Amino acid sequence: MSELVIKNLHVSIEDKEILKGVDLTVKQGDIHAIMGPNGTGKSTLAYTLMGHPSYTVTSGEIWFKGKNLLELAADERSRLGLFLAFQYPVSIPGVTVANFLRSAVNSRRRVANHEDKGMPILEFRKMLKEKMELLKMDPAFAGRYLNDGFSGGEKKRAEILQMATLKPEIAILDETDSGLDIDALRIVSEGVNALSGPDMGVLVITHYQRLLNYIKPQFVHIMLGGRIVESGGPDLALQLEERGYDWVREKYEEPATA
Ligand code: ADP
Ligand code: MG
Repeated sequence: MSELVIKNLHVSIEDKEILKGVDLTVKQGDIHAIMGPNGTGKSTLAYTLMGHPSYTVTSGEIWFKGKNLLELAADERSRLGLFLAFQYPVSIPGVTVANFLRSAVNSRRRVANHEDKGMPILEFRKMLKEKMELLKMDPAFAGRYLNDGFSGGEKKRAEILQMATLKPEIAILDETDSGLDIDALRIVSEGVNALSGPDMGVLVITHYQRLLNYIKPQFVHIMLGGRIVESGGPDLALQLEERGYDWVREKYEEPATA
């Protein structure tokens, strides 16, 4: 069984420490949610897991399937079975969603076996059709140029379709903090609900408190000031929905000094 293990992770941006000791283990088959107010380091954690060069790991460890993630490039992390959704995906005019996904699938197959000629086109089309039906997507979507003129919701759909096609063992999804995010969260949640199971673990990162209306995580964590300060079950998300984040701040933040 695959496991993502984060140990005492400290991360800085431009010499400013943002993550101050994060510990978290996500197992294949489990759904975790990290919630927290804006500016607490949630996206910093997501970008660090992706291997974004602006984020410097100053101490701590990240292990995935027994491999030291910090020694692997972003594409190697992906091929190992980690899916990292991009919050701001790039558009590729001229490359259709279907072609993009086909080359992603084939490049993985070639890593596994250098002689691989790629998935036969009919097999790929059948697989893509099944995934799109599962996600209740319009088949015409596959023929559009990737992210070219896509709405925020359509970009999320493209991301979820990529997740369905690549079948990662652990998927990490960071949500935007914009006004779009209720719609985006619904799309992501429907995808996660359709795809999650014993083969896939999920880490959803969001500041949106009404998460449980859309998704059923077994584990909920609250991040504040670059640390996970509370961990619990779905009841923790319910508490956030009812009481907001103020009680967490009062419990863990030092009172402001004059
Ligand atoms: P969240 O996703 O929880 O809203 P972030 O991880 O985006 O939080 O940000 C955490 C902190 O890091 C904030 O104080 C933010 O201002 C700072 N920060 C994020 N990105 C950068 C950056 N590229 N350069 C400098 N500071 C940053
Ligand atoms: Mg964020």
